[in-house]
Amino acid sequence: MKLNQPMAEFPARTNREEKLARTFARVEQRLGDAHATLLGYPYNLSFSPDLPKTLHGYLINNLGDPYAGSYHGSEVYDEERQAISWLMRLWGCLDLDQFWGAIGASGTEGNLWGIYLGREMLPPDAVLLYGAEAHYSVPKAARILRIPAQVVASLPNGEMEMADFAAQLRALSGRPVIVVLTCGTPMTGAHDDIAAALLGLQAAGYDRDGRYVHVDGALNAMVLPFLQDVPTAIQPSFEKDIDSLSTCGHKMIGTPMPCGALVARKAHIARIKRAVCDQRSHDTTLMGSRDGHAVLAIWARFFGHGYGRFAHDALRCVQRAKQLAADFTALGVPVLCNPFSLTVVFPEPSDGMVRRYQLASKYGQARAVVMPSVTDALLGQFLADYAAWWRGRGWLI
Ligand SMILES: *Cc1c(COP(=O)(O)O)cnc(C)c1O
Repeated sequence: MKLNQPMAEFPARTNREEKLARTFARVEQRLGDAHATLLGYPYNLSFSPDLPKTLHGYLINNLGDPYAGSYHGSEVYDEERQAISWLMRLWGCLDLDQFWGAIGASGTEGNLWGIYLGREMLPPDAVLLYGAEAHYSVPKAARILRIPAQVVASLPNGEMEMADFAAQLRALSGRPVIVVLTCGTPMTGAHDDIAAALLGLQAAGYDRDGRYVHVDGALNAMVLPFLQDVPTAIQPSFEKDIDSLSTCGHKMIGTPMPCGALVARKAHIARIKRAVCDQRSHDTTLMGSRDGHAVLAIWARFFGHGYGRFAHDALRCVQRAKQLAADFTALGVPVLCNPFSLTVVFPEPSDGMVRRYQLASKYGQARAVVMPSVTDALLGQFLADYAAWWRGRGWLI
């Protein structure tokens, strides 16, 4: 009988080891080339592979709740709680006992879970409000969770327009709301005014029981807290009355795999917590199994790279983004670079350049993000290419 083999793996008599090695070498070459000219995606590639190679040989699964205590051997909960405590301190949690956090799969998961916590807190007629420039995972979460959603207009720089926010709140006349604010919008790196949004909620008669505020800090919640002079109104911090805050591991933190972290007020987790008998744990996370290598990677960045060097990276990247914007201006190119942001937006260049520098683009605008791993040489080469395209664009288009 013929076995139901899904597809031919390798032709007969090939040396499988050799074949695998050749493919891996090709993948590595391609990734190396791509990373050498990466400008458009906010990946911090300057991490050193902090984890000892030997750890790659272990399955590490932070199954279940990181605070429930160890109940199986394949976990690194201690390191997860330490990493989360590090973030909690950075994000203004004064009494760590009042907060809960976990490391998850991505920024998207943080948003989905934050919005879910809000839905579970509020009556079923709650509405989600989010800015027009918010990440697409926000309306997606609303669809998954079947929460009616309304888009709040954005200012030209990408931040939420507070007048429209206030008008929409007034029109909702007390109907409960989940509000998602963004610390670093995907396209323009803009920061929603968290303090103004909270004041707007208050002015519209919302008290703590009638609203839930999640801050999507995937892009810049690991940038702003390290900088001096940032207006407190836009600082992603639990010193303000927000309910949850999330970020990505593979962006500013710098991990070699996609991952993310979420911190929320403990009361919201207590509400959704379910006992799981066979695990002697609590079900408090969206995912059951969670990547323990990602936990160790984030832990190693926090405790190895450390606060001082993150602060240095943040300051330097903001200055270099400003410099890149100034260089564009000197070329006569219209450019946008929000304060305290690493993102620089400019007219979308040729297809070749978009592909080479892996620029993200939208409506004829493209963005570069000056991450710690972006070298001066790369910026110089990019500017030279851009200048040549800009001067020639009259007859290219
Ligand atoms: C990158 C990003 C996300 C999504 O993160 P993933 O890890 O890709 O799921 C969400 N919000 C903002 C603002 C982002 O920049």
